[in-house]
Amino acid sequence: MNMHQPFRRRTLKQLAGMTALGAVNALRAPRVLAADKPPRLSIPGVAGKVIQRQDADYEIWRQAMVWHMSKPKRYPDLIVQAKSDQDVIAAVNHAAKGGLKVAIRSGGHNSNGSCLRDGGMAIDVSSMDQVRIDEAKRTASIQPGVRSLELIQAARAKGLAFPVPHCPSVGLSGFTMGGGMGWNWPQFGGMATHSILGADVVTADGRMQRATPTENPDLYWAVRGSGPGFFGVVTRLDLQLYPAPKSIMASSYIFPLAALDTVTAAIESVRKKHDVSRIEPILVLMHHPEVPADAPPEKSKICFFTAFAFEDSEQKAREALLPFAQSELASKCLVKMEYQPFAYEGLYDRYFSLNDPAGRCARYAVDNIFTNDASKALHALAQHFRAAPTKDCHVLTAMNLRIRNQADACFSWVADTFVGPYAIWDDEQDDARNFAWLRGFLPLIDPFAIGHYVNEIDGRGDPDRYRQCFSEANWQRLQQLRRQYDPKGVFHSYLGHS
Ligand SMILES: Cc1cc2nc3c(=O)[nH]c(=O)nc-3n(C[C@H](O)[C@H](O)[C@H](O)COP(=O)(O)OP(=O)(O)OC[C@H]3O[C@@H](n4cnc5c(N)ncnc54)[C@H](O)[C@@H]3O)c2cc1C
Repeated sequence: MNMHQPFRRRTLKQLAGMTALGAVNALRAPRVLAADKPPRLSIPGVAGKVIQRQDADYEIWRQAMVWHMSKPKRYPDLIVQAKSDQDVIAAVNHAAKGGLKVAIRSGGHNSNGSCLRDGGMAIDVSSMDQVRIDEAKRTASIQPGVRSLELIQAARAKGLAFPVPHCPSVGLSGFTMGGGMGWNWPQFGGMATHSILGADVVTADGRMQRATPTENPDLYWAVRGSGPGFFGVVTRLDLQLYPAPKSIMASSYIFPLAALDTVTAAIESVRKKHDVSRIEPILVLMHHPEVPADAPPEKSKICFFTAFAFEDSEQKAREALLPFAQSELASKCLVKMEYQPFAYEGLYDRYFSLNDPAGRCARYAVDNIFTNDASKALHALAQHFRAAPTKDCHVLTAMNLRIRNQADACFSWVADTFVGPYAIWDDEQDDARNFAWLRGFLPLIDPFAIGHYVNEIDGRGDPDRYRQCFSEANWQRLQQLRRQYDPKGVFHSYLGHS
């Protein structure tokens, strides 16, 4: 598919009804609008469009910055659509000179809508979307507006792959800079942030600085894990690629929620008895897609477990999935779908649209823990999950993360599993009920937490949650680097911390 079609005056409601793949095209920031008039403000050195709050098309631009429908009621004074490194530098200089605090938007998927802040300047880098693949070195050099599907398509054309986000439209820079649990994480280096080899960063003084293990290593450290509170604009990321798997297969097993004990015991038993360390296992507690929304939880809530194998041949993929087929997952489930072949595009569309409601563009709030006690955490939250306010609310469990402990990354945690509740709903009048349900999980799951994932945290509820996404030492070092690189506070920090 062509990833470069502009936004064509689709209403946000129409976007919500689109397939995940279609939405990637539509979600490019608006470039061609009939109501467009010559911009009233131009910033010296900025070729991209500049939208001021009083402009007629400000509100559509502002809303288009955030992918989901929980549009924050926060209003930047200026939105700058950067087209080039030069645009970013000029915009940052303009902001610094005029005392405008800067926020950054790339893919716009952050659940808190962190790119929208009150006042100041929002720099939208989503139009900077070039990808260069170096086949020999197995690297990609990407601009910050590149999204999941674009990178995987470009890499696969050269027989390579990257742990890209599970939804095609998620921005690679927000995703990798915050951590990044991407497809085939166990074999592709754990968190994607550890596959960042280098970055170009425009810092608060308007300089383009290179961040690698040897050039500005402290900036490199901060790029790798700080996520939605980084103090600079990343205009290029150099990424490690991996040989593309030739065969992708998945086996899924469905149980009623009441059988959660059986499910967690069977998963633990398979993981103890067999080497399934190459497998990406995902367990979703969810509402059965074919059961009406108002059905009682005993008739509607299910455990949907899927093991993904990414291998060199179909035979190897089948062998990798065999332990699951021989376990109680297969013998005790309600429904099984084993050895389903997938192409990457199918992973996004078929897997996401059928089995994971997170791909739906609606109102949205998330939180999470990293844990080594996933079974206990799931049992602790199961009763609360039953009270999910909508059909799309679910809990995602991503196991076998195989995170590496790396001193040159501020990403702080080594844990086996991510557990994240997701509230997804449509009407603003249901906000309070959904936030209450989401926040009701925290006292239940936090006792099992090693730490939290900064890209999926509910920072609107409690800004201190951001601090809990880092070890104390890393948090302190991030503050110190912020003071060093951005002494006048040109860039926003985490929501609630600026
Ligand atoms: C449908 C959906 C699916 C998802 N799937 C996954 C998944 O599979 N795995 C996973 O780990 N996460 C996933 N996420 C979470 C995702 O990683 C975060 O939402 C992430 O913040 C998205 O990045 P973005 O660039 O799209 O967002 P944005 O909202 O554009 O960016 C978030 C923030 O990151 C910072 N930032 C982004 N780009 C830059 C830059 N170039 N320079 C400096 N700072 C920058 C800014 O502070 C910005 O406000 C998913 C989210 C959604 C909504």
